[in-house]
Amino acid sequence: MAKSAMLERKGSVEKTRMLIDGRWVGAVKAGARKIVNPATEEVIAEACEAGASDVDRAVRAAKGAFEDGRWSGKTPGERAAVLWKLAGLMEENAGRLAELESRNAGKPIKLAKDGDIPFAVDNLRFFAGIARGLDGLASAEYSGGATSVLRREPVGVVGLIAPWNYPLMMSVWKAAPALAAGNTAVLKPSELTPLTTIEFGRLAQEAGLPDGVLNIVTGGETAGKAITEHPDVAMVSFTGDTATGRKIMGQAAASLKRLHFELGGKAPFVVFEDADLDAAVNGAVVAAFVNAGQDCTAATRVLVQAQVYKKFQEAFLEKVSQLRVGDPKSPKTDMGPLISRDQLERVEGFLRRAKGAKILCGGDRPAGLAKGFFHSPTVVADAAFDSEIMQSEVFGPVVCLQSFRDEADAVAKANGVAYGLASSVWTSNVQKAFRVSAKLQFGTVWINDHLPLTSETPHGGVKQSGFGKDLSACAFQEYTTLKHVMIETTGAARKPWHYTVFGDPA
Ligand code: NAD
Repeated sequence: MAKSAMLERKGSVEKTRMLIDGRWVGAVKAGARKIVNPATEEVIAEACEAGASDVDRAVRAAKGAFEDGRWSGKTPGERAAVLWKLAGLMEENAGRLAELESRNAGKPIKLAKDGDIPFAVDNLRFFAGIARGLDGLASAEYSGGATSVLRREPVGVVGLIAPWNYPLMMSVWKAAPALAAGNTAVLKPSELTPLTTIEFGRLAQEAGLPDGVLNIVTGGETAGKAITEHPDVAMVSFTGDTATGRKIMGQAAASLKRLHFELGGKAPFVVFEDADLDAAVNGAVVAAFVNAGQDCTAATRVLVQAQVYKKFQEAFLEKVSQLRVGDPKSPKTDMGPLISRDQLERVEGFLRRAKGAKILCGGDRPAGLAKGFFHSPTVVADAAFDSEIMQSEVFGPVVCLQSFRDEADAVAKANGVAYGLASSVWTSNVQKAFRVSAKLQFGTVWINDHLPLTSETPHGGVKQSGFGKDLSACAFQEYTTLKHVMIETTGAARKPWHYTVFGDPA
């Protein structure tokens, strides 16, 4: 990591700073949080714990930068050039960023290297391009003698709050559209995984992003709460747990902020008897256990038609038994640890409470790994439909298997949760695929696949998975407001109707 982001170095432990108004600063109250490598339990850094006064400094910097137009006043082409340069710098540093992400989040290096970092780079390039598409809507004469112009404008200061499962990627999914649209931002990564976002800030400076446009504060709930309550923050874009989303809705109510929520999920993976079973089994293993199941779109409920349930289960268990759990640094590792001891114990709690359910494999900590927050890939069957493990997001390597009778039963079971983020349908019948996809109440339905997202396609949920879209031109619009400007064009001769409401009728 670059020296600019360091406060000091104590042995191998780096003490990070926060980016406020273009300077790397410590927290006013000098609090710090230990950042742990979840695979080794070693402390790898200490990060500032921002309080309300640090957040206030960051918001004031962002407000100043917004109001003087140092960013929103640039042409879209100028903004695009900075974001494009930032993407290039990230690409040049991709190996180092992937290694840092893997160390901080316990993510297998091949996932960080081939997944998170290239996607973040691509996302910045996509939004650099789309920055130049910030246009209004049709202008026309809707009222006699007046021309209406509909302008799309940035919202102002946006608060961006990210989770720990894809730390840099989630920060970029928020910062890229927000900055492309001309907003200024206060970005807070998760308190558990701030390191790559701090690097992102350093690279943004190197790319020429003006001071105060992107401010990065580190810390947990206190800092997040201060962002969501600050009267000068116009919008909060949050990715995280549904329960935290509820809290934020309350915190933001007093200042009536615009909210953008990407929350939890409990994705169904629906396999019909006519599906290519090999493809479905392979797809289910990846979709259930990618990132150790710490993925909001993870296939956590695999629903299989009764005729092929047994066959699917056998093949699935065989594949799951081949997953390699261990050192995230090894290119052979499929699954690393969970993010923290708390998360590991949370997953264990779900399994302990799943009375009556059958654990077909896993359900424990893997043997031979003395350190780290590892959990075995776990397959659960026969859980009651309304039980906690079938209804709540576990956010770990736990998948529930369940059978269904027919199309109607599949749709009812798939939709029978409070969440609505992602789902998939596996069948060789195209009519059935379309019929079922239309009935599924989820923001994404994949057909014969599960997981892939692209910068061009919108991602976001319905029901308790939130609202608003990440990715795509839709996300860009989320960070803008639409202003109507009406210009009277006829001068004194004009007698529009609303002037006739005063005075004597003619
Ligand atoms: P979390 O809700 O615990 O924390 C997310 C962020 O919110 C962190 O930065 C945290 O410090 C901050 N925060 C905590 N309390 C706050 C408060 N009261 N006010 C403001 N900010 C607060 O979530 P997590 O455990 O970091 O991430 C896992 C969750 O994120 C899962 O539920 C997962 O499904 C969800 N997620 C959703 C998507 C999506 O696209 N829908 C993507 C990734 C993760």
